[in-house]
Amino acid sequence: MEDIEKTANEKVSEENKTPQESENKRKPARKPYYHNRNRRYYKKNYRHQGKKNDSSFSKISIVVPLYNEEESIFPLTNEIIKVVHEMGINYEVILVDDGSTDNSLAEIKKVIQRDRRFKFFSFRKNYGKSAALQMGFRNVTGDVVITMDADLQDDPNEIPNLVKKMEEGYDLVSGWKRKRYDPFIKKISSRFFNFVTRVLSGIKIHDFNCGLKAYKKEVTQNIKVYGELHRYMPVLAGWEGFKITEVVVKHHPRRYGKTKFGISRFFKGFIDLITVMFTTRYIKRPMHLFGFLGAISFFVGIIVNGYLSYLWITGGYLSNRPMLFLGILLIIVGVQFFSTGLLGEMMVNNFLSDKEYEIKDKG
Ligand code: UDP
Ligand code: MG
Repeated sequence: MEDIEKTANEKVSEENKTPQESENKRKPARKPYYHNRNRRYYKKNYRHQGKKNDSSFSKISIVVPLYNEEESIFPLTNEIIKVVHEMGINYEVILVDDGSTDNSLAEIKKVIQRDRRFKFFSFRKNYGKSAALQMGFRNVTGDVVITMDADLQDDPNEIPNLVKKMEEGYDLVSGWKRKRYDPFIKKISSRFFNFVTRVLSGIKIHDFNCGLKAYKKEVTQNIKVYGELHRYMPVLAGWEGFKITEVVVKHHPRRYGKTKFGISRFFKGFIDLITVMFTTRYIKRPMHLFGFLGAISFFVGIIVNGYLSYLWITGGYLSNRPMLFLGILLIIVGVQFFSTGLLGEMMVNNFLSDKEYEIKDKG
């Protein structure tokens, strides 16, 4: 009798559950994908599952920013799964949809259903590649983070090489597309851009804007990128004292869709470089830049006007000497620069806290 009552009660509580809850109950927890799907797919893609992870990292997180890349998502994710399974390492893939207006989101959802190690975030509007990367970085749980483009131009087969290089103790390994498959104008402008960035930043790598990079998790947690600053991740990391290197990676022509960055990238890139220089190299010592520029301008002005004063004293006329204005201008600009630098120093003194310094280790 008791038994009958109990089963009746269970039945009632079962009925009261939401469809989602009863579904969860029916499914055993963490059921691997290959049990409920076709076995042939498992054999083809998961046959390396038993392989031991011989890397010193325990989990990799792959972050893929994507904007209108519907055709590429399926082949890309398949390839990633294949490569990481061969490595035998625990992984997660974070797909960040940067406000796509095509079917990318639907494609992503199909992938998520297939493999629980894929996660996704979808922006309501297009915020840019840096924002998408930042979103991924904020949610990574692996100890090494790989970023790659979604357009199949970056080759997932390079992931093991990047991870291997990271094991040598680097904090950031950047891909170098030595042989690029891009339009001629893009190749030339990119070469110039890389050269200027290399000289001004002092970071000795060849390809700053390669989508394929590996980071230690702490780098991704410390460097904040916004706008189009993703191009300068190695510069920003380098200036924080992280150890950086590069490896040559394979590159492919774009198979589907079109590039999201036109020639304007080139101009924006240089303006961003100035921002980066200010916010890294000079932020803690503004006087070094402004004081230096101010001093040069001021002294040239003094020399010019000193010379004109000498002429005036020896009986010359200054009314027809435009150089007088140049001298005055240089002196005023010099003083301006100097005072800007001093103001900067005052602000730095006020706001700089211990938090600004990167701690690698402590005892
Ligand atoms: N991308 C993005 N948001 C944007 C522009 C681009 O997430 O606003 C992604 C894009 O989908 C691709 C990667 O950034 O995965 C690199 O973009 P693209 O291939 O257009 O750049 P290129 O290879 O021409 O430098
Ligand atoms: Mg591309």
